[in-house]
Amino acid sequence: MADNKRKIVLVGTGMVGMSFAYAALNRSLCDELVLIDINEKRAIGEAMDLNHGLAFSDSSMRIYCGTYGDCNDADIVVICAGVNQKPGESRLELLQRNTKVFASIVPKVVQSGFDGIFLVATNPVDIMTRVTFELSGFNAAKVIGTGTTLDTARLRYLLGEYFEVDPRNIHAYVIGEHGDSEFVPWSQAILAVKPLRDVLADNSQTYSMEELEKISVDVRTAAQEIIESKGATYYGIGMAIVRIARAILNNESSVLTVSTRLRGEYGCKKDVFIGNPCIINSGGANRILELKLTDEEIEKLSNSCNILNDNFKTLSL
Ligand code: NAD
Repeated sequence: MADNKRKIVLVGTGMVGMSFAYAALNRSLCDELVLIDINEKRAIGEAMDLNHGLAFSDSSMRIYCGTYGDCNDADIVVICAGVNQKPGESRLELLQRNTKVFASIVPKVVQSGFDGIFLVATNPVDIMTRVTFELSGFNAAKVIGTGTTLDTARLRYLLGEYFEVDPRNIHAYVIGEHGDSEFVPWSQAILAVKPLRDVLADNSQTYSMEELEKISVDVRTAAQEIIESKGATYYGIGMAIVRIARAILNNESSVLTVSTRLRGEYGCKKDVFIGNPCIINSGGANRILELKLTDEEIEKLSNSCNILNDNFKTLSL
């Protein structure tokens, strides 16, 4: 960490970026928050707006519109820049356009002398994280995507409702691509310390696997549903970014389903960045928690990996 001063640079001050910034201010996440956007006027206005809220917050955060040179001593560079998903458009269709955007951002961050952690939210997030890794030349542990963090939060919320249990006592993950091929490995889901499959077996009149599968579909389609109703999703992901950044800045070693590079886990293709439970601390995503998946779940994860790899291979970086 730089001089005990916790500094974050946010690139992309649109809806997602500013939802993150607003949540960061309310949580006193860092000491310095720098805003960068291709639309500089917007970044200046956003910095002014947030600064006017400082008096009402518990934070003494320094917030200003900056340049890529400001990344030099930052702990984290959060990237939310890009073009947004249109109704009906798949995340992978965004890929080509957002790769061009990243080619105009990542090299400038690296040239500043930045030595912290990249945290990427732009969609399709798994591939954009891999693009960041390739463009930066950084160690893979220091390039993290938001992955299925938000999907996992959505899942735990819905399971909490279904079982009428505090979501914090539900341990279940969404893994794979943040997108259409993501899935829930139910074999690994537990309520407190009781496997969900045992909860179902002991309460077969009340709960069923069919209902759980419906919940996983609801999780997968939630983003499209929100986009159809209000045009974009931003609050949830803004808070997810704060959660990951907090785990990094506080050296928490928390388990979060970020997008990180596979190093041969699950027998899947190496080098693919994909949502996976990972231990996050000030070193970034150093350790993947490899789950004991069933053969069927490994097949689903391989399918997700192949989709991400095939799409990445279409890019010329
Ligand atoms: P937005 O259009 O509101 O904001 C994007 C911002 O990026 C704009 O301010 C734009 O000026 C800026 N920008 C574009 N090109 C730039 C460049 N070259 N350099 C610097 N800034 C640039 O979009 P949004 O709603 O904030 O969404 C941002 C991204 O986040 C999208 O890709 C969206 O799909 C993604 N997203 C991800 C998740 C997730 O779970 N990971 C959830 C929601 C949205």
